[in-house]
Amino acid sequence: MVQDLRKGRKQRTEGGAASDPAPGPTPAAPAFEPAAVSSGVTPSMAQFLEIKAANPDCMLFYRMGDFYELFFEDAVAAAEALGIVLTKRGKHLGEDIPMCGVPIHRADEYLQRLITKGFRVAVCEQMEEPAEARKRGSKAVVHRDVVRLVTPGTLTEESLLDAKLRNYLTAVFKGPHLSGKITVALASIDISTGEFEVGEIPAVDFPGEIVRLSPGEVMATDGFFSDSDLSKWIKIAGAAATPVPAAHFDSLAGERQLKARLGVSDLAAFGAFSRPELAAVGALLKYVELTQIGKMPCLRPPRRSGPSAHLVIDAPTRSSLELLRSTSGDKSSSLLAAIDRTVTGPGARELAARLSSPLRDPVVIGDRLDAVGFLYGTETLREDVRQALRHTPDLARALSRLALQRGTPKDLGAIRNGLAAAHTCARLLRSGGDGIGLPTALAGICARLAGCTADLQPLLARALVDDPPHQRRDGNFVRPGFSKNLDDTRSLRDQSRQVMAALEARYQQECGIKALKVRHNNILGYYIEVPAGASKPMLSQPLSDTFRHRQTMAGATRFTTHELTETESRIVSAADRALATEQEIFAELTAAIATEERMLGETAAALSELDCLTALAEVAVEQGYVRPILDDTTTFEIRGGRHPVVEQALGKASAGAFIENDCVLVISHPEPLAGFDEMTEARLWLVTGPNMAGKSTFLRQNALIAVLAQMGSFVPARSAHIGIVDRLFSRVGAADDLARGRSTFMVEMVETAGILNQATSRSLVILDEIGRGTATFDGLSIAWAVVEHLHEINACRALFATHYHELTALAGRLPQVANVTMEVREWRDEIVFLHKVKNGAADRSYGIQVAKLAGLPKTVTKRAAEVLALLEKSDGKAGDRAALLNELPLFAAARPKSHIPSDSGPSPAEQALAAINPDELTPKAALETLYKLKDLARKERP
Ligand code: ADP
Repeated sequence: MVQDLRKGRKQRTEGGAASDPAPGPTPAAPAFEPAAVSSGVTPSMAQFLEIKAANPDCMLFYRMGDFYELFFEDAVAAAEALGIVLTKRGKHLGEDIPMCGVPIHRADEYLQRLITKGFRVAVCEQMEEPAEARKRGSKAVVHRDVVRLVTPGTLTEESLLDAKLRNYLTAVFKGPHLSGKITVALASIDISTGEFEVGEIPAVDFPGEIVRLSPGEVMATDGFFSDSDLSKWIKIAGAAATPVPAAHFDSLAGERQLKARLGVSDLAAFGAFSRPELAAVGALLKYVELTQIGKMPCLRPPRRSGPSAHLVIDAPTRSSLELLRSTSGDKSSSLLAAIDRTVTGPGARELAARLSSPLRDPVVIGDRLDAVGFLYGTETLREDVRQALRHTPDLARALSRLALQRGTPKDLGAIRNGLAAAHTCARLLRSGGDGIGLPTALAGICARLAGCTADLQPLLARALVDDPPHQRRDGNFVRPGFSKNLDDTRSLRDQSRQVMAALEARYQQECGIKALKVRHNNILGYYIEVPAGASKPMLSQPLSDTFRHRQTMAGATRFTTHELTETESRIVSAADRALATEQEIFAELTAAIATEERMLGETAAALSELDCLTALAEVAVEQGYVRPILDDTTTFEIRGGRHPVVEQALGKASAGAFIENDCVLVISHPEPLAGFDEMTEARLWLVTGPNMAGKSTFLRQNALIAVLAQMGSFVPARSAHIGIVDRLFSRVGAADDLARGRSTFMVEMVETAGILNQATSRSLVILDEIGRGTATFDGLSIAWAVVEHLHEINACRALFATHYHELTALAGRLPQVANVTMEVREWRDEIVFLHKVKNGAADRSYGIQVAKLAGLPKTVTKRAAEVLALLEKSDGKAGDRAALLNELPLFAAARPKSHIPSDSGPSPAEQALAAINPDELTPKAALETLYKLKDLARKERP
């Protein structure tokens, strides 16, 4: 639907260009003087064209009073994209100028829609009051300038961002590495929080890395974007692509800027940066400068990413394990949703960041686990901390907006409340650690929470009203009592208002008109209004001596008096001064915050980490998770493991308990573990069992347990011992990638190739049903060779689910391969899934029983059973098989007579039924007929 945003449009309060015609209550403000423009370019048009020319790739939001106006092709595109009315205003070179506009108070909403549709927007503001411009002459144009470019990766407004999602802007630089291997350096910043991450990875890991970072916008050179192999992943990761000149990737400039931004003379404290990394940083910071027009968000110390720091998870594995969202894109059935008990947006972002980047260093993971363990064991502290965090605002985002001079009084309030919560949490942690001491991670958080100077929070508390407004320009955010000067001016302003009310009462009496009102609008200022019918006496003496006529409207007449004008100027100046004083106080508070910027950044980060750790403790208690043991061995021993997502889904659906299972690939103790089944230990488990028996669930749950453990979470198991995994691979379920022209089989093979080429002896590989997309023997052969390769060459820990029973023979041939199977029971020709993993191989597939469960017609399952019986007789020999199948009676011959409609006419029962006329039957005859029909039907059953 097309919306007309100008309907009921308010009169403009600030005015447009001084040369714009006077704004009035009727439609929009013309941008350019209609008459003058037809002959040439006017000064206001010249200003527009100049600004537009400087930002050719952006839609120009051109501020005019209370609207952002768009002109020419921008207007046409925006009207179409936003579904708003396209009008025209004035002429340029003889042509009508298309125009549309959005009111500033709804600008965020429209910006979001434009950004989502892939537009970039340049926001052009009025840099002075129209009155200022008028001082330069009546034709002078209000000075305007672009204050910011809005792009998908540079958003800061709460309404444009998801509170629980990070929004990275990422610079990608492909550079040759000294070793000759091609690497890609990535530098990412979330402008809305200052979070900053830099790393360099082998080019083969780029897809997984870009999916992990999941940026809103990626910038790279044209050359990179035309390298379709890598750049296609940017699109898959859902990021907008922004080409920038190669010259922006300047490593020296990057180094200089980084030092300046971090306030250090040497970067060594943050680890060594490679040249490609600094080049990416250079381009990133340059782009931030360009889009923020010189303003810089606060930059947090860089997180260093790279293959040695993190568990590397490639793109298909991320998607198949459904870490942050399910394969269908739904977030609610992801692992993140299953474990997310955070109570703040920043906590949720931290949790998501940790889940997408599990660690490799057992010491650092141990620190995280110590903290979770401590909060797990101290219920009161955990509850109190969660309570204190519950309404804590997003400190980092408020801080960033203030740093970018885009802050509002509400942001000041957020800093005040955030600091108060930080102090409460620090106090809670200190008292929680009394006597026993806090684990390292929590002690660090505690110190950072209390890091800001003690006077900032009290200052903000004294200065701000309880609930500061969103808008800065309307004032009313400073608490009475904070500034004497402001209090005095405000009381003068308010007194004057009372005076105005008294004036109105007096005038009503003097004129004898009860309906007389003193009103205000932005054009006339204060005026006296009386209904048209009552205005006559005021237009003649003696009243007309005092009341000067100003305007005649349809239903009312407007007047003014000398006294009214005088009072007005007193009010206006008091109100203006009060407003100006509030603006000064705003600037002082912002400056006080700016001096604490770094510490506030630390406080914000500490709060988010605390929320994340407390949430992990909470889910561990709620779901009965245990602390995993992590070390540098290659152990993989999960006892009583569960699938964190399926378990909760079953619980919600009251669909019975989840059956726990062991996974024992490599153990580190010689004795069997007491209280658990003895499972065959082998680095590679071949998992067989019918469909629906729980193979995929079992495979995934072990991968998810590894991810959870290495992110520093407790895990859904009775015990878990995991030797740090360097790379995790999962290939579960078939997915066509038709959009990219690859069949299921092709996708499967490409992904399998990736695994075989990259898995190391420290990796964990989950493979489900490899080789199913081709003919039986091809598939079997491929699966066979893949198992051998994983066993001999990769020597990794692996779970391999398969339908090919023939593969189970490998367990006898390869020392590190063992067979396990999902237990099933047969009961009266039905199959019952026990979902229990046990040693050994499945005896058969039970495909027909599963098909029966799925509701395949009986005729089909019965026939399939006949075919199967014959095939099994053939003993695997292809020739025999063909001969036997030739002998198989035709389907038609074998089909049961009564269940399939035939050409031989109605059966006796059907004939009897047709002959019945129910209306003529007595109750006794009806009963007899029923018995007869039943008898006939019984005879017809085969
Ligand atoms: P398969 O891969 O063998 O076809 P799935 O892993 O897809 O089987 O499991 C089928 C269904 O069985 C799952 O959706 C889940 O509801 C249920 N299931 C699987 N494993 C378990 C378990 N350990 N305990 C309870 N239910 C399970």
